[in-house]
Amino acid sequence: MGLVGGGPGSFIGRIHRIAAELDGEAKLVCGAFSSDAQRSREAGAAYQVDPARAYPSYAKMFEAELALPADRRMDFVAVVTPNHVHYEPARLALEHGFHVVVDKPLCFSLNEARDLQAAVERTGGVLAVTYTYSGYPLIKEARALIQGGRIGGVRKIYVEYPQGWLATDLEGGGQKQASWRTDPTRSGAGGAIGDIGTHAAHLAEYVSGLRITQIAAMLNTFVPGRQLDDDASMLLRFDNGASGVLVATQVAAGEENNLSLRIYGELGSIEWRHADPNSLVLRSLNAPLQILRTGSPYLGEAATRSTRTPPGHPEGYVEAFANIYAAFYRSVRAHADGAKFDPRSYDFPGINDGVRGMAFIEAAIRSAWSQQKWTEFV
Ligand code: NAD
Repeated sequence: MGLVGGGPGSFIGRIHRIAAELDGEAKLVCGAFSSDAQRSREAGAAYQVDPARAYPSYAKMFEAELALPADRRMDFVAVVTPNHVHYEPARLALEHGFHVVVDKPLCFSLNEARDLQAAVERTGGVLAVTYTYSGYPLIKEARALIQGGRIGGVRKIYVEYPQGWLATDLEGGGQKQASWRTDPTRSGAGGAIGDIGTHAAHLAEYVSGLRITQIAAMLNTFVPGRQLDDDASMLLRFDNGASGVLVATQVAAGEENNLSLRIYGELGSIEWRHADPNSLVLRSLNAPLQILRTGSPYLGEAATRSTRTPPGHPEGYVEAFANIYAAFYRSVRAHADGAKFDPRSYDFPGINDGVRGMAFIEAAIRSAWSQQKWTEFV
């Protein structure tokens, strides 16, 4: 594994490293950890990689790694930089024959996303997008229950993602993660809608198995001087006629990371909350309420395969990331074996999900500016 990003003081790069190595299937061997060569070296020392492989730039890393014997070079790279530095390293990596894990949103714009999709098709490389929440065992159970008809045809989806950490002008004080997320030259056209709205939209589609077809969005910027939205509310229509409500806000003062999902069908419903991710509430028209728990023997194959500990031993955020990595590795191995395979059959978010996320951001923004009620989500 190589990393692009994950330098000193960064957030998600270290999580990727831990998750990627969790099952002993990969090891971090190199990185371009920062845009600053000295900081990249410092990070390399902290990660205990060979100093010669803590590169000053990702372009140098891809060249140098490709020049190594095949059994020594990295197999894949995780791109964990701010959004404006996703497309170029991901494309270059694919073109040098490396597989890619890239954090969400896929990149900076829908145009870039489509170019990256073309690069995946051209090179045949495997690309995963870490829509983390789809990696939780009980999210997989909820998806399987719905696929199996347990709650009947889906009618109504509520997905809410309130955070409070951007309730004040954090970027004004130079806070690293807030600074680029609120800067349209680094984050892209979306603020909260891109940062967490894309997670919510992906989760709603992944669990329900449906696709959003139309949206009616309201975007707000509550913190004075902020250049991007920090609050989004929208109505959704799905391809089976189901209706939905999506809320993504980063100014819900006091909230931590309170993602939740409720899906109502003709016969019953499911409810999952990130604050209690090892419980899944299952309601039925004609049976008592049930609370399903991670690790329990009655759960289905997808949830069981995504669980490492017995019931009562909490599985969390890192494990959810690791589940995406595990599916990505299965796909990479099939690729290495020369198997004819479709990465979509490996149950991890891929390039199409990434492109859809970028289309979602742009459709939400179009909708918010439009006087028309519904905007098509292509
Ligand atoms: P961050 O600001 O904490 O870290 C970004 C890192 O990228 C820093 O180390 C920075 O030095 C490095 N960097 C910037 N330009 C670089 C370059 N040209 N070459 C090499 N390194 C470079 O950001 P973060 O909060 O970790 O977010 C990174 C990405 O991960 C974003 O796209 C974000 O949306 C995503 N993210 C996803 C989740 C999730 O749950 N899936 C959570 C947090 C962040």
